[in-house]
Amino acid sequence: MNSKYWEEDIETMPREALQNLQLQRLKKTMHIASHSPYYGKVFKELGITADALHSVADIRKLPFTTKADMRANYPFGLVAGNMREDGVRIHSSSGTTGTPTVIVHSQHDLDSWANLVARCLYMVGIRKTDVFQNSSGYGMFTGGLGFQYGAERLGALTVPAAAGNSKRQIKFITDFGTTALHAIPSYAIRLAEVFQDEGINPTSTTLRTLIIGAEPHTEEQRRKIERLLGVKAYNSFGMTEMNGPGVGFECLEQNGMHIWEDCYLAEIVDPESGEPMPDGEIGELVLTTLDREMMPLIRYRTRDLTRILPGKCPCGRTHRRLDRIKGRTDDMFIIKGVNIFPMQVEKILVQFPQLGSNYLITLDTIHNQDEMIIEVELSDLISDNYLELEKIRKDITRQLKDEILLTPKLKLVNKGSLPQNEGKAIRVKDLREK
Ligand SMILES: [Zn+2]
Repeated sequence: MNSKYWEEDIETMPREALQNLQLQRLKKTMHIASHSPYYGKVFKELGITADALHSVADIRKLPFTTKADMRANYPFGLVAGNMREDGVRIHSSSGTTGTPTVIVHSQHDLDSWANLVARCLYMVGIRKTDVFQNSSGYGMFTGGLGFQYGAERLGALTVPAAAGNSKRQIKFITDFGTTALHAIPSYAIRLAEVFQDEGINPTSTTLRTLIIGAEPHTEEQRRKIERLLGVKAYNSFGMTEMNGPGVGFECLEQNGMHIWEDCYLAEIVDPESGEPMPDGEIGELVLTTLDREMMPLIRYRTRDLTRILPGKCPCGRTHRRLDRIKGRTDDMFIIKGVNIFPMQVEKILVQFPQLGSNYLITLDTIHNQDEMIIEVELSDLISDNYLELEKIRKDITRQLKDEILLTPKLKLVNKGSLPQNEGKAIRVKDLREK
């Protein structure tokens, strides 16, 4: 197979045909969902059936589904299929607080998911001759098995290295000739540091493709990962509620993630009012599964903030592109009346080569005043000249003030002095008196 597409007919389907397919699958999805205790009740109360859907836009006649709805109906209130007969796997979201959310899959659902992940990997040039290493946690976390089955479907030689143990990751890369690696962005940077500690130049290895996702990151951070590891890094988007990885993925253009619209119906809404936003404007991503049988989700509020990129992609795929995730509606914090996303801080910090990649924002009450303290690690390059450090600190503070409209207390700390996480980085600590 020499094509640049995994499934050319679907990936390049004209918009009108794609929307017809979406409508047909939406009606089917609604019909299936009505067999679940939760949706059965919701649709009955609204007096609505799939017959009310005449166009894709009619999805607005259906109510949103929230994480709170899923928690209230934990564990199986949204299961529509015959779980005992047809259920083959459960995944659960990494709920750090309260009840986790659970997704149940049939064999059809897992096959559809693996195919989507294979489609993503193929899109960035990974072929069956490649060696694919996955540094995701396995188990309930979908980045493990999700990429595993997708890469196997593609026919690549897979290395289920799982999370952590950086020296071992590097040994696998060099010994097995790994050509493609899946890693969250902060871990990719951590690996580059360990390569250096081990005295190995990462650009001398066979590694050439990196899949990064699961953690919001900036364009500058991507370029940094590419430079440090000598790879091309592609952005990946997914979440447990929508299977996991494989919902959206960048093509070789590295300009937005094609969202697979044959399997997901994407809306961008105003997070406050729930009203639709036009393409190009930032709002909350709302997703509906179109090819899931055991546990369809309709108009799921992802709490991810992003936008649909207007225009066509030069790669020829007709599925619209999502911009990188700008943050979470619930990551946002408010200090002194200003709404701030950690991404805004990160965007400034990555522009200074004197800084390392690890930072921590602490919100605290000091003398009855709310204060924002940003600690950021210095890179190795920096001199210990106090005057020079003070000048850098002032430059960064000024730029931060321009971006977030208030002046944080900035502390430059030595490399390695902030907590180092091998999983998702913790960026904000709120110690304020409530
Ligand atoms: Zn493209």
